[in-house]
Amino acid sequence: CEINKDEVVGATCDVTFKEINEINHHIRPELLALVHSDFFKYFKLDLYKQCPFWNDNNGYCVNRACAVDVIEDWDNVPEYWQPEALGSLQNESFSAEDDNECSFLDELCDQQQKNGIIKQDVEYCDVEDFHNKDSVLVDLTANPERFTGYGGEQSSQIWSSIYKENCFSSDQAQNCLAKGAFYRLVSGLHASIGTHLSNDHLNTETGKWGPNLDLFMARVGNFPDRVANIYFNYAVVAKALWKIQPYLSHLEFCNAYHEDVKSMINDVVSHLDSKIFNEDLLFHDDVSSKLKDDFRSRFKNVTKIMDCVHCDRCRLWGKVQTTGYATSLKILFEIDSQDESGRQAVVDKLTKYELIALFNTFDRLSKSIESINNFEKLYNERVTSL
Ligand code: FAD
Repeated sequence: CEINKDEVVGATCDVTFKEINEINHHIRPELLALVHSDFFKYFKLDLYKQCPFWNDNNGYCVNRACAVDVIEDWDNVPEYWQPEALGSLQNESFSAEDDNECSFLDELCDQQQKNGIIKQDVEYCDVEDFHNKDSVLVDLTANPERFTGYGGEQSSQIWSSIYKENCFSSDQAQNCLAKGAFYRLVSGLHASIGTHLSNDHLNTETGKWGPNLDLFMARVGNFPDRVANIYFNYAVVAKALWKIQPYLSHLEFCNAYHEDVKSMINDVVSHLDSKIFNEDLLFHDDVSSKLKDDFRSRFKNVTKIMDCVHCDRCRLWGKVQTTGYATSLKILFEIDSQDESGRQAVVDKLTKYELIALFNTFDRLSKSIESINNFEKLYNERVTSL
């Protein structure tokens, strides 16, 4: 693709494509190990939630590749993921409102709560937000994000609804940057999904899964802006991880479950740099707080639109990634407005599912960037062999 790798990724990211490639090359093995660890490889979601935006109960993806294998054989699942262990953490005060994976975005929009005291007693191991009787536990490593055959009018409708969320009401000057950032987040997600489905694609002639260069070029490679948006998203999530790092060492972080988790996180995050993304340029004065609320509620709608996706495997990864981006936005835009103990509380208050989504989203972007570099090699080999 026609990207100059020595250029910076965008107005809000002061790093070049080449620098991101180098960072990614460094952290890839550790990040991969992290998302394959017993702590980070599980995710819980409700696959049967109704689409909240339009009446659409009669469609589903019939391909086997669209299916999600949920955990049924509990014997091989670590003790702390067993239903009894999860159930024992159930909180009496749990309400239907908390039942939403993205209820944290509601909290952010609630000015009263924002100015009030942040609860200090919420640990990463609690499951309140994700405790829903219809939810299933899924091993992400057993359900890779890959080509499913999902497409046609239904998926187009989902994508166009997601892009339509980018219609901000106010016309402040900053609107333009925020609007641009929103578009880049969504387009980067879309392009990352396109990269994964091209990289892990079923060749119907050989019956084997592998990279499909033509498909990649048609979906992503021929559009330098789409490639750039994947790098932009990488910068956003990397900056969020950089921001939580100082608060991780004090965390009551499920050490009983996986002693290495903190050090594995540190191994990854210590390679990141603060200049990778400058969130202050997006919302930096009072005028922009309305815009920030608008941004938040619109992004929240994107996370809800995932309940309209008919392909379960796509819905699973759509949920993981939109939750991961939402968590990044929460970290980027909320931590700075707090004093030191408030910052710690913001991090302490993240649920384990938000953290799992955050790191898996980073892994998805990291894998996309690795695949883009691989597709570039395949493309060059093809060109030189002509
Ligand atoms: P689509 O990808 O549906 O795109 C529609 C239109 O959007 C395009 O015509 C183009 O004009 C524009 N567009 C495309 N990409 C971008 C971009 N990056 N930035 C801006 N505009 C763009 N399929 C799988 O095989 N595996 C999956 O895991 C998977 N996950 C999905 C998750 C979600 C949430 C959704 C909504 C869909 C998912 N799909 C998945 C389907 C996949 O994204 C495509 O919709 C499908 O392959 C059909 O592709 P298409 O070429 O018709 O265009």
